[in-house]
Amino acid sequence: MMSSLSVILPVYNEEKNLPIIFQKLKEVLEQLEIDWEVIFVNDGSNDASGKELEKILQDDNKVKVVNLARNYGQTQALAAGIDNAKGEIIVTIDADLQNDPQDIPRLIKKLDEGYDLVSGWRFDRQDDLLLKKIPSFIANRISRAITKIDLHDLGCSLKAYRREVFDSIEFHGEIHRFLPIWAMINGAKISEIKVKHYKRKFGKSKYGLSRVVNVVLDMFVLIFMWKFINKPIYVFGGAGIALLGGSGMVGGFIIIRKLFFNGVWVSPLLFIFVILSTMGIQFILMGILADLIIRLYYGAKAKKRYCIKTVLKKKD
Ligand code: UDP
Ligand code: MG
Repeated sequence: MMSSLSVILPVYNEEKNLPIIFQKLKEVLEQLEIDWEVIFVNDGSNDASGKELEKILQDDNKVKVVNLARNYGQTQALAAGIDNAKGEIIVTIDADLQNDPQDIPRLIKKLDEGYDLVSGWRFDRQDDLLLKKIPSFIANRISRAITKIDLHDLGCSLKAYRREVFDSIEFHGEIHRFLPIWAMINGAKISEIKVKHYKRKFGKSKYGLSRVVNVVLDMFVLIFMWKFINKPIYVFGGAGIALLGGSGMVGGFIIIRKLFFNGVWVSPLLFIFVILSTMGIQFILMGILADLIIRLYYGAKAKKRYCIKTVLKKKD
């Protein structure tokens, strides 16, 4: 049994939800025989969320509030929460009351069976069909087909992790939806349990249909990183060698035609030869460049992409 837990909630304009979600969380966490903390990351809210969080903070010394300098989006809010968390187990949950804190003990229990990540599955999702459920269903299907990951609901925020999972994940783009896939790429053992889901009562959803474009683009990056990041020279260089091979055959044909069949040097084939050989060389050089860049990528010390204004905690 692991002994410390950090629950992380990204908060962007959730003033009405905050007191309720904290009350519900507290009821659940106090039942656990585990050392816990709750971290609210205020992602540049411009409603009264900041004030509400200060009230909660006065109330309880197991709460930490991380105020970001502006609105960075859910991914960076989670990153800031995780960087400030002490727990061996990290649980992420939305602040908008759409997830149920009652599900947390089950997630942790499953994690304790030897998993590195346990994801919630909103099997009875209470969201808009056209804007949310259908795009999500398609995205989940595609992800499953490509990665063979055995999860139904990547986008569910309610998840439990062993903290080590985050050591090798870079928080980039809107990667919070793909965390299980990154974890899987890095060798994590992953499981899923059904969780409850409710309609949003207070406040507004922060995502519309435009998120679909971002999801598709993030997916391209993900597939590239997954398949090729450790060997870009093989990808580009392989294509380069194939092109050079083609140009060699065309060139050989031109020479033989000239020498033995009294043909011409200059014909459309010569242009094809020039194009293929130039592209082949370019591809190989690109592969070498990509290889150098990857070395830099791993060598450079990752910088944080968010800026914290204050970290608050009640004095004991
Ligand atoms: N959120 C955030 N920063 C943002 C957008 C959202 O911290 O820029 C938080 C938000 O307050 C909520 C969670 O991320 O706690 C999920 O957002 P939302 O409920 O809008 O997403 P949906 O459930 O509609 O997909
Ligand atoms: Mg929500």
